[in-house]
Amino acid sequence: MDMVRDLDDMTFTEWFTGLGGSRGSIDRMWDPIAYALGFIDCDKISARCMLTIFMLFAIRTEASVLRMLDGSPQTFLHDPIVKYLEDRGATIHLRTAIRDIAYETGADGLPSKITGLQVRNELREFDAVVCACDLPGVKKVLPKPFRQFPAFDNIYELDAVPIATVQLRFDGWVTELRDGHKMHDVSGDLSDGRAPGIDNLLYSADAEFSCFADLALTSPGEYYKEGEGSLMQAVMDSRAYNRPDDVIVQDTLDQMHRLFPSSRELKCTWSNVVKLGQSLYREKPGQDKFRPSQATPIPNFFLAGSYTYQDYIDSMEGATKSGLMCADEIINAADAIKREAATNVGLPEGKVINKNFREPLDMTAATAAVAFVDDGSFDANENTDMAMRPESAPTIG
Ligand SMILES: Cc1cc2nc3c(=O)[nH]c(=O)nc-3n(C[C@H](O)[C@H](O)[C@H](O)COP(=O)(O)OP(=O)(O)OC[C@H]3O[C@@H](n4cnc5c(N)ncnc54)[C@H](O)[C@@H]3O)c2cc1C
Repeated sequence: MDMVRDLDDMTFTEWFTGLGGSRGSIDRMWDPIAYALGFIDCDKISARCMLTIFMLFAIRTEASVLRMLDGSPQTFLHDPIVKYLEDRGATIHLRTAIRDIAYETGADGLPSKITGLQVRNELREFDAVVCACDLPGVKKVLPKPFRQFPAFDNIYELDAVPIATVQLRFDGWVTELRDGHKMHDVSGDLSDGRAPGIDNLLYSADAEFSCFADLALTSPGEYYKEGEGSLMQAVMDSRAYNRPDDVIVQDTLDQMHRLFPSSRELKCTWSNVVKLGQSLYREKPGQDKFRPSQATPIPNFFLAGSYTYQDYIDSMEGATKSGLMCADEIINAADAIKREAATNVGLPEGKVINKNFREPLDMTAATAAVAFVDDGSFDANENTDMAMRPESAPTIG
């Protein structure tokens, strides 16, 4: 991984063509992959970002399998996590944006300790705070004086890419190319995901959306509707973002028809566009040095989220890795937090962190991964070995 980490200052194109790779291969194969990973092309994406993924695929063959959830992320991803947390006594407050972070300032004039959060009209006290926002969120919520620390100020060097997610519903099956009868047949119950067409995530170099799928087929749980056909979902990137929604829909439809000519016989019955002005952080070269570590210069304040420094792209896996690293940092700091919390006036019982809930991670698996020996012990938590961070990465406080 060290070799990959050291490639953060060049684009994938620079790395690939430098080793003899062709422009044609970039255009026809690697660009769709880069767009799918970071919504930018190979001329703009960091070589580190692309190669991290392929390193993982090389080490763990099962990592390259394309899989979709059976239905919506809410049902198949979030709900089980929410249940896990609630079963353990956690309460989740939705629609409760944190507007302000309360903190103490040290004798040197620098923020030294977080004391609480402004939750609606109430200031609530906490012994330790994890800020697990997205990039636009963290930029908004950090108090300005925090930027006196380079670790926080660097976050403002990162920026995010705009995208538009487009959904098109049809009265038949768009990706069924062989059987005209099947393509039109929406009768019966096909909620088992057995509708005709291609049941997988698709990539193309011939459309502005590089990565797309028929959700009615791949994730029928909530997306298949009786008597209706394909629900094509595609992500348009900055090339299309500024166009009006109806133009984006028409462009997506035209390009979908070009990829699947027989779908011209079908009618698009419904469409939707969701624009996100700031989605993933822009994984261009040279960003790793600006990504903060999970431990911060303020001892009881931690960061998580896929934009923080972790060895993976901005993704659900990256976010999960950052969460594990953050948990390790909190465990490392638990004694100090406990000591500090004990000095708080009127601290309610049970507020002190229980250090015994999770043991530090076993780092031995990381060594196996670096040596590229897949002996089955490769651990998704390998990144928690801080000794493996590049020189340019922020130091852990
Ligand atoms: C169109 C699209 C498709 C994607 N597809 C995939 C995919 O197929 N696979 C994959 O692995 N990844 C995918 N990703 C990337 C993935 O969604 C992100 O990498 C991941 O969600 C990052 O997780 P996170 O926890 O860091 O941030 P987020 O999931 O963005 O969570 C941060 C949360 O913080 C909240 N927040 C911000 N400010 C505040 C505040 N002041 N108070 C309270 N809450 C606040 C936000 O509302 C948000 O809910 C996709 C992204 C996009 C945009």
